[in-house]
Amino acid sequence: MAYRVTFIRGDGIGPEIADVSKAVLDATGVAFDWDFQDAGVEMMEKEGTPLPTRTLESIRKNKIAMKAPITTPVGTGFRSCNVALRKEFDLYACVRPCKSYEGVRSRYRNIDLVIVRENTEDLYAGIEFQKGTKEADEVIQLCSKLSGKSIRPDSGISIKPISVSGTERIVKAAFEYARKYKRKKVTAVHKANIMKFSDGLFLEVAREVAKRYTDIQFEDRIVDNMCMQLVQVPELYDVLVLPNLYGDIISDLAAGLVGGLGVAPGANVGESGAIFEATHGSAPKYKGLNKVNPTALILSGMLMLRYLGEEQAADRLEKAVADVIREGKDVTYDLKENRKDPTAVGTREMGQAIIKKLKVKSEK
Ligand code: NAD
Repeated sequence: MAYRVTFIRGDGIGPEIADVSKAVLDATGVAFDWDFQDAGVEMMEKEGTPLPTRTLESIRKNKIAMKAPITTPVGTGFRSCNVALRKEFDLYACVRPCKSYEGVRSRYRNIDLVIVRENTEDLYAGIEFQKGTKEADEVIQLCSKLSGKSIRPDSGISIKPISVSGTERIVKAAFEYARKYKRKKVTAVHKANIMKFSDGLFLEVAREVAKRYTDIQFEDRIVDNMCMQLVQVPELYDVLVLPNLYGDIISDLAAGLVGGLGVAPGANVGESGAIFEATHGSAPKYKGLNKVNPTALILSGMLMLRYLGEEQAADRLEKAVADVIREGKDVTYDLKENRKDPTAVGTREMGQAIIKKLKVKSEK
């Protein structure tokens, strides 16, 4: 029976990479019954909400979705749909494998890291107070009363909650991932030396959870040191587990190690479902140009195949993508030695090259 999967085509470059990714996933031979749904800036203009109820209902019912990027206006306007979706479905684990593929230009080779980022807490919990509002003033006064420390009256405030239960489940998810995919080590990343009651708690709980996984090594790193280590000695690291904000930042750093956002996939996973999406955003300046690299969303589809237990199809798809990238002919501009190389192909053409590889393999 076909897998019923919600597909959100997003905005900006979203629809282009979504259509290509769908075609590639269909070419793996796994049967999908796609349920296309809308979200993003165009929905905001048309229907007054970037995330219509019917889209949420579809994900609730199907429990699994592919999602292309959605724009979030900076500073003003609606809050991030991406954050809202993760919260709505309690998709607490964002798993981002960052692996070197031969042929992708990068300063590094043989990188094989997995970032497991907590998705629901921390400074991204959305508990914020705007400068100068009555609420902000009250929070400032309360904090001053309770902590004896003053906050400047012209401050905006974002709250950083980190819980025992939230930490326990994300660290467990990192260890379970390590076990399933035969990884050797989990590193917890934090700033516990400064934020003792939030990051300190994260570290304390991580140490407790680690005791239950004696087959996998455990260590911790302070986030600033982690950044330097990843740049200098990335080969020392394997699976990293991080609170939300550090996870967001280090995901992009790790994507940079393997050649950039164009090749960095991701999965947002919870107890009751999963949404698969690229690490990169909607890159609005490239919208409609058939120019950007579809690999990150295609590889997110590969993660979906693994989540569904379709390991063989996932392996074939990963190999087809890796072959096209290694050959370096039918690839987008960002994968060429010279970004202005006129032989670079478009988004659709790179997708077609991957489909061709998949078809040749299934005919053998
Ligand atoms: P971005 O990831 O969209 O783009 C940054 C740059 O990375 C681009 O200008 C381009 O040079 C490169 N790039 C990104 N994707 C590429 C691809 N597939 N192929 C080749 N090059 C690629 O980041 P941004 O410009 O900071 O964000 C744009 C919008 O996307 C913002 O509104 C942001 O909030 C949103 N966003 C959405 C998601 C999501 O939907 N999950 C994630 C991140 C950002």
